[in-house]
Amino acid sequence: HHVFVCSGLGCPRNDEIRRALERAVQTQHLQDAVLIRKVGCMGLCSAGPLVLIQPQELMYQGVQPEDAEEIIASLGKSPIQRLLLPADLAFFTRQHKNVLRLSGRIDPESLPDYLVAGGYQALLKTLATLQPPDILRSIQDSGLRGRGGAGYPTGLKWATVAKAQGSPKYLICNADEGDPGAFMDRSLLESTPHAILEGMIMAAYAVGASQGFIYIRAEYPLAVQRLKRVIRDAEQNNLLGHSICGSNLNFHIQIRLGAGAFVCGEETALIRSIEGKRGLPRPRPPYPAEKGLWGCPTLINNVETYANIPPLITHGPEWCANLGTDKSRGTKVFALTGRVRHTGLIEVPMGMRLREIVDDIGGGLTEGHTLKAVQTGGPSGGCIPAALLDTPVSYESLNELGSIMGSGGMIVIDETSSMVDIVTYFMAFCRDESCGKCTPCRVGTAQIHNLLIKFQNHRATMADLEMLEWLCDLLKNTSLCGLGQSAPNPVLSALRFFRREFLDCIATEQ
Ligand code: SF4
Repeated sequence: HHVFVCSGLGCPRNDEIRRALERAVQTQHLQDAVLIRKVGCMGLCSAGPLVLIQPQELMYQGVQPEDAEEIIASLGKSPIQRLLLPADLAFFTRQHKNVLRLSGRIDPESLPDYLVAGGYQALLKTLATLQPPDILRSIQDSGLRGRGGAGYPTGLKWATVAKAQGSPKYLICNADEGDPGAFMDRSLLESTPHAILEGMIMAAYAVGASQGFIYIRAEYPLAVQRLKRVIRDAEQNNLLGHSICGSNLNFHIQIRLGAGAFVCGEETALIRSIEGKRGLPRPRPPYPAEKGLWGCPTLINNVETYANIPPLITHGPEWCANLGTDKSRGTKVFALTGRVRHTGLIEVPMGMRLREIVDDIGGGLTEGHTLKAVQTGGPSGGCIPAALLDTPVSYESLNELGSIMGSGGMIVIDETSSMVDIVTYFMAFCRDESCGKCTPCRVGTAQIHNLLIKFQNHRATMADLEMLEWLCDLLKNTSLCGLGQSAPNPVLSALRFFRREFLDCIATEQ
């Protein structure tokens, strides 16, 4: 038997549970028959700590160290009913796992585990049989779009870097995940860090980059620790460094720690931060693909985008192209949180309806609550009201409703939450995170926040409402970078679908 214990940050006391299981194996003299393994996130964080028994595929929820003896004693016998999760739970059966397929199935830090699961096969196939233009064509044919938020076509970006003049070429993995409610990148890095490296190495081969950087928040210590370990193992096994796997590819990866500024997720600010300067955005063009790190062509993609590359090359571009909608291909990872029964990390084909995510995968709202809205895209996104729950999840359909796909935060909001409170929270976040370089965002976010406080206190006037809309419009159109341009989105979306709540906050004596 293999007993897999989640070792992600979402499952508390998991180290203690693993040690208790190991002790139970010893006391029951089962060392030859049972192997306890630490694995990455299994997804259903709300039911954690999770333990998976193989080969029976039994999943135990809410496991505590005190359950260890009973779990080990029950192996090969009847499952422990009080801990057992139903095998047909829609949370698992309705998902389509692509980048998460190995999450919770292998030891994140083990190179042998990753190899046995088929890891680095796509890289070997690439180096042995494909030329860089073949890869670029595959990525373009697949229709893959950047998973960091903007949804820019990945193939087009790679092709631009590949043909850009300048040397050396750099490659960056943007792991500066900062949206409140989002933990997709952290979980991917904690669960399958080798897969991210593999995607980066293949990208380096395709665009001709020789040096890569992973820019990751210092607030993600477990992910950083695991990345350091897997980079070292990859170097020792000729998967990184000179003449990778006997090919002519030379590629190195370094980690750069971000200090927690949200604006450093913006690519030009991130690049300045890696260069050792203060993370301030600059106008584009020139785009990083042509003039990026130290003025050289630079490919910058987020964690999930790189994680898509190995399966895409293994299965061919049609495989990704056949999933999802016409313009939004493949799958998307979401951090499903809020007032649903089942919260955690999920992966669904693009085009799945929000209703299926909330009702089936999420298991519906918690007892006694009704759905009010689903928030996507965090402080840059918006709310989809319950009446529009049949909206398919795609870049286009969410944009049409004034929200964005974003990097994958999805917060389910119930009837007890005030939309005015929610947007005030997001605006305070943007005000605090504004870098201050341009006036519309530096001053505008503070002014919008002040106005929202007046609404919260029921002291607003109709003139405040007009001013609120005017300022939001101004910020959208005149801010220098995406942070300021998208900061009004939550407010505008709430005004569009929940205007009544703002009108109810207007003082009656006015
Ligand atoms: Fe800085 Fe905001 Fe201007 Fe972006 S929009 S440059 S975050 S002040």
